[in-house]
Order: sequence, then C-alpha cells, then structure tokens
Amino acid sequence: MMKSLDALLAQSTFSPDDLLQLLKTEDPAECEALYAEAFRRTTAVHGNCIYFRGLIEISNVCVYDCRYCGIRKSNRAARRYTLTRAEILEAARYALAAGYGSVALQSGERSDPKFVDFIEDVCAAIHRMSVEEFGMTEGCGMTLSFGEQTPQTYERWAQAAGNRRALRYLLRIETSNQALFAHLHEGRCGAQKTWQARLRALSDLRAAGYQVGTGVMIGIPGQSLEDLVEDILTFGRLDVDMLGMGPYLVSHGGDMVSEGMMEHKALMRLTRNMLAATRLALPTVNMAAATALETLEPGARALGVLTGCNVMMPNVTPQRTRASYQLYDNKQGTESEPDSNVRLEQELVRVTGRSIARNRFGSSLHYRSRNAGLPAD
Ligand code: SAM
Repeated sequence: MMKSLDALLAQSTFSPDDLLQLLKTEDPAECEALYAEAFRRTTAVHGNCIYFRGLIEISNVCVYDCRYCGIRKSNRAARRYTLTRAEILEAARYALAAGYGSVALQSGERSDPKFVDFIEDVCAAIHRMSVEEFGMTEGCGMTLSFGEQTPQTYERWAQAAGNRRALRYLLRIETSNQALFAHLHEGRCGAQKTWQARLRALSDLRAAGYQVGTGVMIGIPGQSLEDLVEDILTFGRLDVDMLGMGPYLVSHGGDMVSEGMMEHKALMRLTRNMLAATRLALPTVNMAAATALETLEPGARALGVLTGCNVMMPNVTPQRTRASYQLYDNKQGTESEPDSNVRLEQELVRVTGRSIARNRFGSSLHYRSRNAGLPAD
C-alpha cells in the first residue's frame, strides 16, 4: 500500500516497499522534502561538518576490462600514466597542508609484485611525511582504492599506512544484481571479475581491519529501481562503514556506448533519491559525494551534501595527468584549474551551510560504534 511521503519521512526503519517508494519520488516539492529530511538527519547524527579526503589518482594502468570504464585495459585510446613517488608525495603534501587530514589513493587495477611494492612504499612515505612534516602523532588518515587484492596485500598496505584508526578501503560492488554484474564485467581481456570474489574481498578487508566502503553506479543500463533497493539492503547486510555512489555516465573509452545512458534530469533526480533513501536507511555511515555528480552537473557535489553526503574527495592529482584518468566522458570538468579546490571549499560552505573539518580523521560513526565507541576524531 502506498504511504504518504510525510508518513515515510517520519519512520526510522524502511521496508523494501518503502525504499522503492522513496526512489520513485518525482514531484519536485516531494523530492525537496525528501532531500531536506536526509540533510536534517545527517546533521543530527554527524554534525555540521564535511570531511575531506585529498584524492590522488595514482595510475590509469589496468589489467581488467570493466565495460563501463574508460580506463579499461582494451581502450587503446587511453594515454597510460603512473605518477612518480615524488608526484604522489607532493599531492599528499598539498592535501595535508590544506588540513584535509586524510588522503585517498586510487588507480586502475594491478596486483603484480612491482605494483604492490610501489603502493606499500608510497603509503609508508605518506605516513612518515604526515608524522614528521605535519606533526600528526598517529599519522594521517588513508583511504585506498586499488580493487581486489589478496589478504596478504591488504595486510602489507595496512601496516605501511601506519594508522589503523583511520585506515579505509573503497571497493564498490557496482550493482547487487548478479546477472548485471556479470554483464558489466564480461570484458575481452581474459581476467574476469565475479560477484563472489567481490564479496570475499570486502570480507577480507574487514578482517584486515579496514573501515570498509562500497557503493554502486546509479542509472546503469539494465538496472531497475528494485535493483537499487536491493543495493541498499546489501549495504546494510555487509555492515559497511562508508559509501560512495554516483551516477553512471557513458564513456566512449568503455564498451557500453550503444546501451546509452539516462537523460540528465532524470539521472540527477534518481541519484539524489538514491542518496537520500540510503541516508535514511543507514544513518551512521559516512557517505561521499562522488566526482561523477560534479561531471553530470557543475556544482552538484554540493547537492550531494544537501542530500545526505558528509564526505568529499577533492582531486589533488597533478594537473599533468588529470585528463588521463578518464573513467567517463568529460570527467576532468571544472577540476582542471589549479585553484579549483579552494573555490570548491568556498562554494560548499556557501551553498550548504556546512563547515569543513580540518585536521580530523573523520571516521564514520558506524565504524566508531562497531569498535567500542572509539572517540570522535
Ligand atoms: N580499480 C579500482 C576499482 O575498480 O575499484 C578503483 C578505480 S575504479 C575506476 C573506481 C570507480 O569508478 C568504480 O568503482 C566505478 O564505480 C567508477 N566508474 C567507472 N566507470 C564509470 C562510469 N562510466 N560512470 C560512473 N562511474 C564509473
């Protein structure tokens, strides 16, 4: 039975039918009420600040062929790069000097020994820098996003990152629809991703002590609203600490151009509905406003914050390689200018009324509650 939106917004638990109804919200005034409630609950649980992670896109070299992704192995048009150790440290220095308190390191996927050693070395060097140059006694926070690795690799990187209290890993499930997951990952390069391996990786990460983050792309061709409901339920079952979700945007370097993408306005509404419904269902997780939102519409990461996000990952990757980390068309967008992060901060504060947390780890309340009420940091 359909409920009124007012009745739904007064609830604290949500059935699959409730979530479906929230996702279907179309009336502009009702959408605004939904987003306002998600924002209000975020403030009530997490306070008024946004946590920043300086995002460093280390390399676009990838051994996989995810069909949606512009840096997939088979895209011969991609100009491949890997940042040097010095470039990565310089980017981390920028983020720490700006008071972000945490960095997020991401790249295409590789598991060869040279890459694993390189990341280990870089994590250790950033940790040392945060202690020695920035006086952070425990070291800065670190979020890694390097795809599926072995438990041994997770452990080595965790040790190198040096600060177990602010150690995080982002690995999206992309979709909880297993048939769609298989379709999205049936690339030509040989190495295949499976849903089972993805779940195992998330559980290995938890066992290695990481704060675990996942997420999905919203509006992927072949995805239904029921799939998105199942995504939210899956996040709950996985007991994740963090979420990063954004719109699916077509990539001409990908292998899904013929499948199209959702129309801009409908995609924006669905993305915000999904963020808001997730925030209502999972109030204590940290939720990041994705870069893809900004590409869909300049300034839209602020709308993400107004819809329940409390984490932002400003890009601090050196200018020389930014345009090459082209996951989807037009990705570099407004971030291709040198002082874009300063403007991003000012705009965020102006549009959302939030303040930016400085020199804090910003671990999610969800994680802190799971760990005997670790203090806010
Ligand atoms: N290789 C790591 C992994 O797969 O987890 C990290 C990098 S991967 C490029 C980061 C995320 O980009 C993916 O989890 C995916 O959700 C997102 N992404 C890739 N192509 C996209 C597209 N066309 N539209 C929106 N998001 C996309």
